[in-house]
Amino acid sequence: MADTEPHTCPTCGGNSVYEDKICPTCHGEGALPAQGFAGRSFAELKTSIDDILTPSLVFRSYLIVEALDTTEYNALTDAQKLNFIMIVSAGFVDLNTDSNAKALLMALFGAGTTTRANLIELIS
Ligand SMILES: [Zn+2]
Repeated sequence: MADTEPHTCPTCGGNSVYEDKICPTCHGEGALPAQGFAGRSFAELKTSIDDILTPSLVFRSYLIVEALDTTEYNALTDAQKLNFIMIVSAGFVDLNTDSNAKALLMALFGAGTTTRANLIELIS
């Protein structure tokens, strides 16, 4: 039976336990589809986590701060500094080609800057 239709787990027969361990098929729920969190099945959750983790060009903010050349940062206008702070305050920074964060950072740190070179090294 498809895991999209509610039914008794065929592995544990609804007992939640299989071979003295939590049933690996239904994760101890005794029924399928197993609901993991917020009404989403474990399979759906795994897919969404994979979607989040797969883009390799999403970095923790501190790595963007580490790429920063202090002199170049101090030369920015207050408005530009706010843009930078807004980007790193998200916790994660998406540096994929079409991201807003990348476009903003590249606008803040133009060709020939150390920060831009550091960011490009981070991406490559
Ligand atoms: Zn089961």
